[in-house]
Amino acid sequence: MSATPPKLVPRPKTAAARKDRVRNILDLLDNMYPNATCALQHGNAWELLAATILSAQCTDKRVNEVTPALFAKYPTIQDFAHASQDEMANDVRSTGFFNNKSKSLIGAAQRILTTFGGEVPHNIEDMLTVPGAARKTANVVLGTAFGIASGVVVDTHVQRVSGRLDLTRQADPVSIEKDLMKILPEKRWILFSHQIISHGRALCVARKPKCAECAIDPICYAKDKTITA
Ligand code: SF4
Repeated sequence: MSATPPKLVPRPKTAAARKDRVRNILDLLDNMYPNATCALQHGNAWELLAATILSAQCTDKRVNEVTPALFAKYPTIQDFAHASQDEMANDVRSTGFFNNKSKSLIGAAQRILTTFGGEVPHNIEDMLTVPGAARKTANVVLGTAFGIASGVVVDTHVQRVSGRLDLTRQADPVSIEKDLMKILPEKRWILFSHQIISHGRALCVARKPKCAECAIDPICYAKDKTITA
């Protein structure tokens, strides 16, 4: 099986054709990743927030290795809020950037306790006031823990794959998210991120994407597609 060379893939010329193509991409993602979900293990919204803070510049696999012991040691938000920062930095050391991350975890727990009565906020405006929670983190938690479509999670996979699929021509995550929110139906914002992250891990990898195995190949004109013989 070989992938289609980019120059042989017709580009949509009208707004209607572009819309059809997006719909087509969503259908193909549904077929490829029907059960895509967040890979960070968690038992409640607070644990998901903590795991997402730890996942910055770190793999979900590594975070999942660290969080069981972390959540056993600090079972509640109160435990996080009153923790020693040095000790927590040590507890999360293997996820990298451990000083900043421990500061964010403790700060987030304190903010949620003092301002939000111990409940992780249910809206993006409040979430963005929580230390360590920028748009990506806020969207992950609101989407996965509460099913609230506050935006589209843009991580490194969504950034790369959305560009390859010509769903955006922007480079920074905030502008990419704005483009995706414009062209995707709101009811797809949450699942789309999970599916694209799965796709970025499985096939549309950073170096040498596995285009010959990708169902989106016939409508993908990414410049860096890999064409096998
Ligand atoms: S794997 Fe290849 S064909 Fe599929 S979306 Fe990525 S670049 Fe396009």
